[in-house]
Amino acid sequence: MRRFTISSRCECQARLGAFLDEKRLVMGGAATRHGVTERAPAHSIGAASERFEVGWLCPFCGRNTVRSFDAGSLVAAPEGADDVRTP
Ligand SMILES: [Zn+2]
Repeated sequence: MRRFTISSRCECQARLGAFLDEKRLVMGGAATRHGVTERAPAHSIGAASERFEVGWLCPFCGRNTVRSFDAGSLVAAPEGADDVRTP
């Protein structure tokens, strides 16, 4: 199955990452700050659209961070990248 990785920054400078499936639904999310990685609940908003959003609940600052992504600019995840903690 083709998968994609996305990443962004939270207001608190944590790096937010997620794996998306072919339908651009979030399979797993994570946040990294100061070398510490935590799972971060994440979900897609309007995944059927070319322009969609992903919201993360940042485990470090508690913000609900929403970022926009363009379906055409998604990066395919490497084969065998099963570790959702380090997207
Ligand atoms: Zn944060």
